[in-house]
Amino acid sequence: MYPSKFDYFRAASVEEAVALLHRHDDAKVLAGGHSLLPIMKLRLAQPSALVDIGHIHILRGISHHDSTIRIGALTSHATIASSDVLRRDCPLLAEAAGHIGDPQVRNKGTIGGNIAHADPASDLPAVLVALGASIHIAGPTGERNVAAVDFFTGLLETEVGDHEIITAVQVPRLQTASGTGYVKFEHPASGYAICGAAAVILLDRGHVCREAHLCFNGVTDTPHPAPGVGAALKNSTLGDADIERAVDDNIQIEDPLGDVHASGEYRVELARVYGQRALKLARDRAIS
Ligand SMILES: Cc1cc2nc3c(=O)[nH]c(=O)nc-3n(C[C@H](O)[C@H](O)[C@H](O)COP(=O)(O)OP(=O)(O)OC[C@H]3O[C@@H](n4cnc5c(N)ncnc54)[C@H](O)[C@@H]3O)c2cc1C
Repeated sequence: MYPSKFDYFRAASVEEAVALLHRHDDAKVLAGGHSLLPIMKLRLAQPSALVDIGHIHILRGISHHDSTIRIGALTSHATIASSDVLRRDCPLLAEAAGHIGDPQVRNKGTIGGNIAHADPASDLPAVLVALGASIHIAGPTGERNVAAVDFFTGLLETEVGDHEIITAVQVPRLQTASGTGYVKFEHPASGYAICGAAAVILLDRGHVCREAHLCFNGVTDTPHPAPGVGAALKNSTLGDADIERAVDDNIQIEDPLGDVHASGEYRVELARVYGQRALKLARDRAIS
């Protein structure tokens, strides 16, 4: 299949990209092209113009600050997975990026494109929500930051407006006495998550749980956090039975996604099992 006709513009700066999007009403941002080009070829998207941001070098790379790490929107999954800074200070993101698709997808796909596309089966949205990340967005009126938990607004929908681009993602650096884990039940061909679970655990002295965060992907239109699980685990010693009970008693998934790959009922059961696995993995890493 061939896409319908479109104009192509290569932006040299964030300002130029925003101006081009403003000038061409029906334009789309092009990053790695791994989601946009297939849907254009299927004619599920027919933008009048593409604004290629691939040459805006300021959007690429990872830098660390006192308590946070900034990842440029154009940073590839492969770069994230192999980053020493992220593996040490935000291993959850590096771990999840390493599980995306195959080497070609990881080399071309970008973190900005992944979250802008907001596929419910993508790995990074739930990870960013569990981490308490924020998303930096630039538009005609300047820059703004949106918490990851507010960023994903519906199936393939986000807070990013028509004339805006994501410039970066900011994640907190892992504190001492903490652990994280990402596990997924993946589609065998694409690697996309049928259900994924991302967990973050912070400990007080004596291995007592100070905070626990759990978020799923693949089970609902948007990343599905489970705050009740975190509340149930607070102040517990995170034994296997504590984790299993917290998940069994507190996962409420109304209207789960169901399709040819897995029914809604099956996805809810996967969330229960993978939620427990992710939390146990995070706990084991926190206490080791
Ligand atoms: C075979 C295959 C397997 C895959 N498996 C997985 C998987 O297992 N897990 C997973 O998470 N993902 C998977 N993906 C998706 C992949 O990870 C890419 O992240 C994703 O395709 C989008 O990133 P991209 O950079 O290619 O964006 P593009 O395809 O260029 O863009 C995607 C969308 O985001 C918009 N966009 C891109 N960048 C920005 C920006 N900076 N600001 C605003 N809007 C922007 C575009 O306009 C478009 O609407 C898979 C893809 C393929 C083709």
